[in-house]
Amino acid sequence: MKNSTPVLLSFLIFTCFSCAQEKDIRSFEAMNTFMVLKSYGRKSVRSNILAQARIFELEDCISVTKKESDIFKVNNANGAEIVLQEDAFCPLQFALNMAGESEGLFNPLLYPVIREWGFTTGVYKVPESSVISALMQNTDYTTVVLDKKKKSVKIRPDMMIDLGAVGKGYAGDCAIQLLRANGIKSAILDLGGNVQTIGKKPDGSLWSVGIKNPWGEGSVAGLKISDKAVITSGGYERFFEQDGKRYIHIFDGKTGYPVENEISSVTIVCKSGLLGDSLSTTLFVMGVEKAIDFWQNRRDFDMLILTNDQTLFYTKTLETSLSILYQFNDIHVVE
Ligand code: AMP
Ligand code: MG
Repeated sequence: MKNSTPVLLSFLIFTCFSCAQEKDIRSFEAMNTFMVLKSYGRKSVRSNILAQARIFELEDCISVTKKESDIFKVNNANGAEIVLQEDAFCPLQFALNMAGESEGLFNPLLYPVIREWGFTTGVYKVPESSVISALMQNTDYTTVVLDKKKKSVKIRPDMMIDLGAVGKGYAGDCAIQLLRANGIKSAILDLGGNVQTIGKKPDGSLWSVGIKNPWGEGSVAGLKISDKAVITSGGYERFFEQDGKRYIHIFDGKTGYPVENEISSVTIVCKSGLLGDSLSTTLFVMGVEKAIDFWQNRRDFDMLILTNDQTLFYTKTLETSLSILYQFNDIHVVE
């Protein structure tokens, strides 16, 4: 018995040492952004490899530029019906629903307009208003024909679908589902600023997620979460300036012009990445007043809005998980 003590001790040391090692961090570029998957547990390395492959697979299916993608096929089908894989059908159906719910402020058919402004190439310009109104004629989402049984879609020849506003959120959901199926109980994914989590940290504490400062460095707030997505749309993410005016990458789906309202960023906190991603874009376009109305009619998510005059709005249920790290001009609790 006496002799077993050193063996037990070294076993414990070995176990603890290997516990500390049971973590995998994987970073890569996908969907035009930088992604980091941090998973804990015995199978973290293999699971992260599979999750990365899953995100690439999804990108190959919904990319607007990759010639083999389902969305590319729809956009180049000359009006013919195209049967989609679930990976494309699911986010497309969701995006079209959001277009209906927001009466077209969110609109997954804006690609030709956004391209005209140069946001797809980085060669920016302010188009003639006549060009914008002509292109807007081809963005009527109510004309898209979805067949839920066949999982097919048909759009007019002059239209283009773009799932850019929901793709990363959907990718997060797919990666989370895959990691869970592989037994991962603790993970945090950062998909280009969209944060999605599984469970809590391995030590049982909550994940900390920072809300980016739109007016400077660092974070203006922190959120403690578990099993949730924290998804932000910010005007600061992509924009260009011309003649002293700023044009951001988030567009008013009804006018075809970059949004010019009081919002600096919208953060959505909810279970689903797809919901969070579509809502962050939609509520940004809506502006504060409409966004609050929208939330009051649904209440199935939380939100945090930062406005250009450095005011913070947040829904009351976030109160216990929120730490404020910035001297705001004003703070409003939404309930
Ligand atoms: P996000 O960063 O998730 O807010 O998504 C912004 C991206 O979605 C943009 O870069 C555009 O590709 C696209 N987008 C911009 N405005 C809209 C809109 N009103 N409805 C749908 N997609 C949009
Ligand atoms: Mg979005």
